[in-house]
Amino acid sequence: LSNRLQGALRTLRGEARLTEKNIGEALREVRIALLEADVALSTTKTLIETIRTRALGQEVMATLNPSQAVVKIVHDTLVETMGAACDRLNLATRPPAVVLLAGLQGSGKTTSAGKLARLLRERERKKVALVSVDVYRPAAMDQLERLADEVGVVFYKGSPTESPEVIARRAVDLARREAMDVLIVDTAGRLHIDETMMNEVRALHAVTAPIETLFVVDSMTGQDAVHTAKAFDEALPLTGVILTKTDGDARGGAALSLRAVIGKPIKFLGTGEKTDGLEPFHPERLASRILGMGDVLTLIEEAERKVDRQSAERLAEKFKKGKGFDLEDFREQMLQMERMGGMAGVLDKLPGMNDLPAAARAQLQNHDTRRLVAIINSMTPQERRFPDTIRGSRKRRIAQGSGTGVPEVNRLLKQFAQAQRMMKQMGKGGLKRMLAGMKG
Ligand code: GDP
Ligand code: MG
Repeated sequence: LSNRLQGALRTLRGEARLTEKNIGEALREVRIALLEADVALSTTKTLIETIRTRALGQEVMATLNPSQAVVKIVHDTLVETMGAACDRLNLATRPPAVVLLAGLQGSGKTTSAGKLARLLRERERKKVALVSVDVYRPAAMDQLERLADEVGVVFYKGSPTESPEVIARRAVDLARREAMDVLIVDTAGRLHIDETMMNEVRALHAVTAPIETLFVVDSMTGQDAVHTAKAFDEALPLTGVILTKTDGDARGGAALSLRAVIGKPIKFLGTGEKTDGLEPFHPERLASRILGMGDVLTLIEEAERKVDRQSAERLAEKFKKGKGFDLEDFREQMLQMERMGGMAGVLDKLPGMNDLPAAARAQLQNHDTRRLVAIINSMTPQERRFPDTIRGSRKRRIAQGSGTGVPEVNRLLKQFAQAQRMMKQMGKGGLKRMLAGMKG
């Protein structure tokens, strides 16, 4: 997919101006890319026309070649369609701020309730309570209770013999009395849309008066996600969307269609089964993913602004001389990446990232830069240059020195080996071009 798109864009090279003719082929490929990423047909059509209008006749900026200019227009259009800003939860109300989660069974409501509780407690220091009104499956209540326990928030227990509204009303009262900042209400879903479910969730909305009513939807359901979203949007005044299971194979086209069709912001992405798998939504990252190509352009722009040129040049020099990539370079790279908005942000933009297995990508993205840097700081210069010499007793010493553990040291060494392989692969093509871009 990305190869095809890149191929089409390559044909644009050398043209000074974008014309109907020379962008036609590129747009055909963009269209296929969008459809393959599960973007709805009607949304795709609208997008292509917007992109065509914007691209036509545009003078190509001196610093960009025409293919880059098209990538930039496509990318910017996708980002704008998905909502340019990262929309946060609105909790500005007299506490408790009620967050109501609605969606089909299996979409990830209960899991997201736990994740959201954790995020609000840990990052925003909120006092959070959870309540489940799923009276149809006692296991669903137990599932949420376990999650509440795991993430360290309060759980209000209801009984399957009570009505959902009774449980919800009591939870709101309790949350008020106990001075909770946020109450998250996890509702029951059905496998398909039906009137009973819609009536119930409407009644719950009336009883709890939520400030946020979030539609939870599985990104893997592709086109169906849009139909379901429409039905829920008609039944409830939705304030936003949580798009779950984006760690799977789905390319994320659902996000684009959702935003275009119901016009509500996507607020979070579910990125895993565990309680830390919830991320604020970043349209740029998803746009890159939908296009299936690294956003080299943005990377270069950011790099120009933030990266310390000298160290970039040193690194480039080192590659030219054919010297190996060692832990010293790895540390330098991590610090640069942190300045540029973290590993995840940078890795998403590198070409080829979409081709890495999901597991490898997740591993690369899930580490805490500062801890890794601390580990490398605890090594001797010799060890940094020759990581192979780091064995048992050295590992223990390094772990102790950095306040970590041997498994973490092992993990770092594994990540370094991966990065080294990646650098080797990119050494000839991508990285050098990238660094050349920084210097220019
Ligand atoms: P509910 O019926 O809407 O409450 O859905 P659940 O929260 O019980 O989730 C259904 C299944 O999806 C469970 O197996 C979850 O572990 C899984 N799940 C939910 N969110 C995610 C996610 O973001 N990533 C992955 N990989 N699995 C998820
Ligand atoms: Mg559930």
